[in-house]
Amino acid sequence: MKLQNKVRRDSLLHYGFGVEEMKRFKVCPTCNSLETSDHSKCKNCASILSNETLYDLYASLHKHCGKCDSVVSEHMRYCPLCGTKIEV
Ligand SMILES: [Zn+2]
Ligand SMILES: [Zn+2]
Repeated sequence: MKLQNKVRRDSLLHYGFGVEEMKRFKVCPTCNSLETSDHSKCKNCASILSNETLYDLYASLHKHCGKCDSVVSEHMRYCPLCGTKIEV
């Protein structure tokens, strides 16, 4: 239990956002402005925003649990939160 909390806190500290938080935002591909995911246009430069949230972007760059979407470290074989085996 303590380890789980530590991992969760570490990932929050390291990445700045929790998973739910990341799903609420997307990044403008033109000016990199952070927009909430209910916007379809960037309010900064008026570019059309894709449906990809910050989380989708992030998940494409990092390993994550297929079941609960938690971000996991490179060396982890099992999700620290739900115990699911991480596909390599
Ligand atoms: Zn923009
Ligand atoms: Zn999991």
